[in-house]
Amino acid sequence: MRRVSIFGATGSIGQNTIDLIDRNPDAYDVVALTGGANIHKLAEDAKRLRANVAVTAHQDRLEDLRAALAGSDVQAAAGSMALTEAAARPADWVMSAIVGAAGLPPGLEALKQGATLALANKETLVCAGPLVLDTARQHNATLLPVDSEHSAVFQALAGEDMSAVERIIITASGGAFRDWPLGDLANATVEQASNHPNWNMGQRITIDSASMFNKALEVIETKEYFGVSPEQVEVLVHPESIVHALVGFNDGALMAHMGAPDMRHAIGYALHWPARQDLPVERLNLAKLGQLRFSEPDDARYPALKLARHVMQRGGLSGAVFNAAKERALDHFIARRIGFLSMADCVAAVLDRFDAQSSLIDAPLTLDNVLQTDHLARKWVDEAISQRAG
Ligand code: NDP
Repeated sequence: MRRVSIFGATGSIGQNTIDLIDRNPDAYDVVALTGGANIHKLAEDAKRLRANVAVTAHQDRLEDLRAALAGSDVQAAAGSMALTEAAARPADWVMSAIVGAAGLPPGLEALKQGATLALANKETLVCAGPLVLDTARQHNATLLPVDSEHSAVFQALAGEDMSAVERIIITASGGAFRDWPLGDLANATVEQASNHPNWNMGQRITIDSASMFNKALEVIETKEYFGVSPEQVEVLVHPESIVHALVGFNDGALMAHMGAPDMRHAIGYALHWPARQDLPVERLNLAKLGQLRFSEPDDARYPALKLARHVMQRGGLSGAVFNAAKERALDHFIARRIGFLSMADCVAAVLDRFDAQSSLIDAPLTLDNVLQTDHLARKWVDEAISQRAG
């Protein structure tokens, strides 16, 4: 039996992972399931899958979790330390699907015990790419991409020589506001931004798709994971979300990966890799689809992409600053304290402030430095917003 753990089990990726495991429960020994506020779902899944331990990220919900697990053999734990401890429990395959930078410490811990880490949490590579890849190398661990674009690139590269790769193109649906007049974006509401045209995902990544901060993170993730230069990573707007990514080779060939917009494909590919197994995803009928459209992203509509280019050039802790500023600005947008376009303005202001601090720019990329920088960048966003309000 394969020992598996799922971090962020109660979320959209976590539930899709559980859907696949539920179809063949005898093949898996579930070590740890983790969640946040959704105690009911966490306990229900942990009991059904007979997990060894269930962990909520919220320390103050431990008693609720214990009560929900009463009568079962599943252990209960809570808090960020407990998450990291759960990641240290031996497992063969670990899904990293916590949302945000909170996914980094347990992901690193899972790599340290030599597990195969299926990485949905893109923030891990954005905040600490070189540290994460070094940790995987040192501990003989395997890192597999689960973001649909990165899984697509990974599949298009199977058996290929990286030195023949000229460029990697990841696609973007364009999000909820792709066709909106630019002048209306300032007044876009949380509800409007939370409505993705093609994918059914968690609220935060859906809003990040509307602003293209999600694609900005993915551009950085592509550079880190595949070890290419910033100039080799391109973005194409593709409203149908059928072609997830393309790899261009030095002989002019362009290998595209296509599939229905269903995360169970990328999750299942990482679960069964290096084999392929049957997956319950729709089979594409290209004749019925008729046409696939592609266009260049508009910089004025999606300023996040330009900020990502700046971050890739800077390197070091700038990815952690970028991600934390984005996460905090998103908190403020969801709380209706700032408008949709102000998110990019806040992130740009925080990156400028970071660029002016030479001690931070030159600091080594350690977990402690990433966590401290993350904290600082969030504080800078709060300061920028209160200055604007004042
Ligand atoms: P969701 O918001 O649906 O789920 C997030 C999960 O993380 C939940 O289990 C949540 O618990 C838990 N969580 C939230 N905050 C914390 C915290 N501070 N500490 C520990 N756990 C926490 O997110 P998604 O599933 O959409 O996305 C997960 C990750 O995968 C993200 O990094 C996203 O960018 C990436 N991704 C998602 C895709 C998708 O299709 N959804 C596609 C590709 C990548 P609870 O809900 O119980 O509070």
